[in-house]
Amino acid sequence: MVSMKSFKDTFARYNWDEIKERIYAVTPTDVRYSLHRRKKTMDDFLNLLSPAAAGELETMARMTQRITQKRFGKTIQLYAPMYLSNECQNISTYCGFSMDNGIKRKTLSNQAMMLETYVLKDMGVEHVLLVSGEANKTVGIDYFLNAVQLLRPHFAHISIEVQPLSTEEYRALHDAGVHSVLVYQETYHQDVYRQYHPKGKKSNFDFRLETPDRIGRSEMHKIGLGVLLGLEDWRVDSFFNALHIDYLQRQYWQTKYSVSFPRLRPAEGIIEPNFIMEDRDLLQLICAYRIWNEDLELSISTRENEIFRNHIIGLGATSMSAGSKTNPGGYAVDKQSLEQFETSDERSMDEVRAVIRQAGYDPVMKDWEHYL
Ligand code: SF4
Repeated sequence: MVSMKSFKDTFARYNWDEIKERIYAVTPTDVRYSLHRRKKTMDDFLNLLSPAAAGELETMARMTQRITQKRFGKTIQLYAPMYLSNECQNISTYCGFSMDNGIKRKTLSNQAMMLETYVLKDMGVEHVLLVSGEANKTVGIDYFLNAVQLLRPHFAHISIEVQPLSTEEYRALHDAGVHSVLVYQETYHQDVYRQYHPKGKKSNFDFRLETPDRIGRSEMHKIGLGVLLGLEDWRVDSFFNALHIDYLQRQYWQTKYSVSFPRLRPAEGIIEPNFIMEDRDLLQLICAYRIWNEDLELSISTRENEIFRNHIIGLGATSMSAGSKTNPGGYAVDKQSLEQFETSDERSMDEVRAVIRQAGYDPVMKDWEHYL
């Protein structure tokens, strides 16, 4: 059998320690050169996320604002997650849903999904992100297809963040009405990845690494990537995440791409972050992505606190979740079930909309409609 091209081949040509060394050797002159170069490359992204670029943060923020307004206007697209299930057959040492965490497991029935939907619709939600743990046997492709069929008439835009699937399964979900798939590598450091994912299907680093290729082959409209910021050095991990996007954009050029910035948050029974990422660092990273790549959608979740989220409205973000519950049934059915992580910004959707308007931006609830 001829093996298909995948990001694994590109990834194999890079070495974590060498990239790290390069990032920490960048000089202020390199940063200024990258800031002013017309067409940006991966080398420029590397320069812009280096410690040396922290001294140019104000310039980077101004550029980011200008580029984002040029490309996306003064808009922030709003969405909310619906957690479908906290069942999971993996151990991820940083996650509240980890298999070894003795919590009550819950998977939403059709009726429960509808009750959650009514609350989300009351909040004005049109873009919904369906999230689940990774439990193939009970919450597999058939469950997702049923959920999408049930929810499609009620939402303009459906994204999913579930276990890695096959190309055929992604294609079936796309045909059923899924618009985007989010999948995070968590960390691109292979040894560290193994330590954080000691058991379950997720422990297969390569299978996860090749997931965006399978999504791309299914002709999904949008693929969302990200790393869990706090597991490893965020600068190096983010370089590899951008390298992944760079590869995917060449390979699946008709697909759109988004980046999320999950910073490790507290959850019951989990570890503390190994690497602390300050607000200033996160701002630098967001700016680096925007200056490097004008087309990327940049998404900020309620993991971040309200002060940071208020500031980021004019600084590169293009979409935000709001009013989020990160537990299955959290909006209506079972408000007390265990969260995947604690949200930090607990304001309602209406409050976040008001803040976006105050900043002179338009909160957008819907910018997509299913073809009929
Ligand atoms: S991160 Fe995902 S796969 Fe890992 S334990 Fe949590 S829900 Fe399961």
